[in-house]
Amino acid sequence: MAAQNYNPFENAQAQFDKVAQMLDVEPGARELLRQPMKEVHFTIPVKMDDGSVKVFKAFRVVHNDSRGPAKGGIRFHPHETADTVRALSMWMTWKCAVVDIPLGGAKGGIICDPRTMSQAEQERLCRGYARRLGEQLGFNVDVPAPDVMTNGQHMMWILDEYETMHGQHFPGMITGKPVGLGGSLGRTEATGFGVVFTLRECLKKMNLPIETTTASIQGFGNVAEYAARMYTQLGGKLMAVSCWNQADAQAYTFTKATGCDPVELAAIKDSFGSIDKQKAIDLGYEVLPGDAWLSMDVDILIPAALENQITPAVFDKISSQVKVLCEAANGPTTPDCDELIQKAGIMLIPDFLCNAGGVTCSYFEQVQCNMNYFWSKEEVLQKLEAIMTKSFCDVYDLAQQKQLYMRDAAYVISINRVYNAIKVRGWV
Ligand code: GLU
Repeated sequence: MAAQNYNPFENAQAQFDKVAQMLDVEPGARELLRQPMKEVHFTIPVKMDDGSVKVFKAFRVVHNDSRGPAKGGIRFHPHETADTVRALSMWMTWKCAVVDIPLGGAKGGIICDPRTMSQAEQERLCRGYARRLGEQLGFNVDVPAPDVMTNGQHMMWILDEYETMHGQHFPGMITGKPVGLGGSLGRTEATGFGVVFTLRECLKKMNLPIETTTASIQGFGNVAEYAARMYTQLGGKLMAVSCWNQADAQAYTFTKATGCDPVELAAIKDSFGSIDKQKAIDLGYEVLPGDAWLSMDVDILIPAALENQITPAVFDKISSQVKVLCEAANGPTTPDCDELIQKAGIMLIPDFLCNAGGVTCSYFEQVQCNMNYFWSKEEVLQKLEAIMTKSFCDVYDLAQQKQLYMRDAAYVISINRVYNAIKVRGWV
């Protein structure tokens, strides 16, 4: 999944090392926090529909659970790697800490391509994942959720297998479940809406009315779609959407001079976020190469796809009009690009703050499951908005006070919280 020459785990460690050094974190604690506490690598044999057996490689990595049960999604991707999952588990620790929810960081992955698998094959794969991990998962141990190319149905199969193994109900062992089966209203929208709650606060600080701004977004999966919906609902003008086209095995950028309409684009996308090219043309969209999203003359860039997209090699293509880089994806920017962003005076909303709305709503889902009492969508979104707004302001204020780059300020808050937890627990 990583672009050539960039290893996401090394990137995550480099980001951590920089701030740990600045904070003078003691060597033992640094050693503990710059790598996962636990990782499981395993295989899942699956009987395919044609009668053959395919063996899938899978991972579950717990980076740190000092602040509470480990939490993080499961990704399905043909290019998944152990190092990508390690990096993502680390970012989950910082993500839960920056929004101050009582959870640790974890991530899972299976090397597979669900776009080429039947529903029955995907179900057997999910059940195998739950069976192989067994006691390593649990509402008070490690709690998975959806991520790239996984959804509520996958979570439900994992939960059903787990509950069958235990002969009891454990709705809090996984989040992102379908509404009515232990899922929370607002969870589908939460990550994308959360992205725009941080963006809105950021624009306020910059004295830029959101309705006068333009944006370009990379990706049209769940996060990108709901970020686009909320951004345009608040009056922003979306100039471009770039997404992967499975049929052509390449990405395209869709643009419209009058602005892209996320509602009409959502109606012509598949469940993996690919927009139908012909239908988009029929709706008046212009189709450009996949990387065109990056060079649009807009105020805001929103990478909402995969890691390692903003690198020094492409930085030159970014328009001088860009004022905000809003990192909706996990790890979209490589550490060697941070200096360039800073020099260019672009305001950064760092990934683990920007996209923390998903896990925040997962936390709400667990709370509701534990009470077996579910809130209205308005209540969920109100609570989400309050946490995202406060977390953004805390990071922004610290960055202003100490003259820090926004990514470093977010790390300062998260590392301090986790460092304190491991000290008070007596681990270091
Ligand atoms: N996969 C999402 C993320 O990267 C959500 C994780 C969760 O809800 O546990 O933040």
